[in-house]
Amino acid sequence: MIEFEPVIGLEVHAQLLTNSKAFCSCSAEYGALPNTQTCPVCLGHPGALPVLNENLLNFIIKMGIATNCKIREISTFARKNYFYPDLPKGYQITQYEDPICYDGFIEIELSETERKRIGIIRIHMEEDAGKSIHDLDIDTLVDLNRSGVPLIEIVSEPDIRSAQEAYKYLTSIKQILLYLGICTGNMEEGALRCDANISVRPIGNSKFGTKTEVKNLNSFRNVEKAIEYEIQRQIEVIRNGGNIHQETRLWDAASQTTRPMRSKEFAHDYRYFPEPDLVKVKVSNERLDSIRSSIPELPLARKQRLIDQYGIPHYDASIFVEDHNLADYYEHCCSYLAVKSQKTFKLVSNWLMTEVMRILSERKIDINELGLNPKFVAEIVDYLSEDKISSRIAKDIFPEVLQNNMSPAKIIEERSLVQISDSSALETLIDEVLANNQDSIEKYKSGRKNVFGFFVGQVMEKMKGKANPKLVTEILRKKLDD
Ligand code: ADP
Ligand code: ZN
Ligand code: MG
Repeated sequence: MIEFEPVIGLEVHAQLLTNSKAFCSCSAEYGALPNTQTCPVCLGHPGALPVLNENLLNFIIKMGIATNCKIREISTFARKNYFYPDLPKGYQITQYEDPICYDGFIEIELSETERKRIGIIRIHMEEDAGKSIHDLDIDTLVDLNRSGVPLIEIVSEPDIRSAQEAYKYLTSIKQILLYLGICTGNMEEGALRCDANISVRPIGNSKFGTKTEVKNLNSFRNVEKAIEYEIQRQIEVIRNGGNIHQETRLWDAASQTTRPMRSKEFAHDYRYFPEPDLVKVKVSNERLDSIRSSIPELPLARKQRLIDQYGIPHYDASIFVEDHNLADYYEHCCSYLAVKSQKTFKLVSNWLMTEVMRILSERKIDINELGLNPKFVAEIVDYLSEDKISSRIAKDIFPEVLQNNMSPAKIIEERSLVQISDSSALETLIDEVLANNQDSIEKYKSGRKNVFGFFVGQVMEKMKGKANPKLVTEILRKKLDD
């Protein structure tokens, strides 16, 4: 049986976080009452003239540089014409033949050691259409707040070879957008949208097969599922002797399948033509340089640096760079450590990934909303790393540190929680425990080794958790086994 290989290219629309719309001064903020953020320009009144939002231009150049694109010195706008009730002008302003960014790539991680380049054909500017609201009983309603909101469209090369790779590509694009601070990345709110182009070909063939384009993907998981479904569907059609038709299909999350759009839904002849109301976009070298210098360290580079600089495992670094605030926080904690070593860096990492992130997920908040002073995490780790407190004490005092914003060092010193590592004091106590539990000693000597835990527990309880457990174990072993 012939084996097939999938070929996938993604088109990602990202809504940009500018204050105002792409070509007028209306607010671009999400969530306002319908039709309260409009003006003659974005309502498409005849004679109203668009003016390019300079911030939109800066944001797209940022994205272009971050994805290794070439930036075109002079580019133009075009009109994409079609009829739809939520498009009052009858066309969308977009870029067609000369997109401002082209010929770039990003890298995705296939494994800890293997990276793959996914090419970017182009990134261009465009404006959003309005929104039709069909889910009310009354009738179809139109909200034009979104009309004219700035978008960039990022078009990948057909370099993606599986649904998992598509998921990783999408995650990377989202992370870069977030690191640049130019998009919320929220797919549910429509700030990030993705269409998937999918074809299959017999393995070994150099020619691509006919593609379908799948729309209506409103979550990362749905993108992955839809691609998986569509690959299998196409392979089956071909194996049964059929042909793939170039068409647009819709993902139906309810049935977990794709189906062809009704023919009415795709009027494909857009009749692009140059936008006569906007001047050419010129990008000066000064603008390019100043934007280039404003680009932060990007996720993959940061991950590698965290691994190199702090000696933490790839897994830990991946978790932190997922949210640049968390990565910042990790580095802040480390900067406050009294003793900076691979051991303490790893302890900070452990503490964040367990105690802190558990609270974040319980409360569904991010690290900046927690309000935990990074210095406090460093204090806890300093005590832990020198065996001055047990991890039990650390966990016990943590809720108080959080709730009262209190320094752990202060709590530990005030309540003298520093663990007892003085072996003579411990020996006296252990002798006492042994003397009071002769029967258990006999059980132990007769081979019931699990009684050992009972003795440790007794000692720790008497010391209210403050005894150094390593030392307790050592002394007990000596006394019981000798
Ligand atoms: P169209 O003319 O249909 O818009 P483009 O060539 O502009 O097609 O490409 C649109 C998207 O489809 C890009 O992301 C590209 O990588 C992808 N693509 C192109 N050809 C194929 C193919 N044969 N299989 C899968 N994806 C493809
Ligand atoms: Zn407006
Ligand atoms: Mg195209």
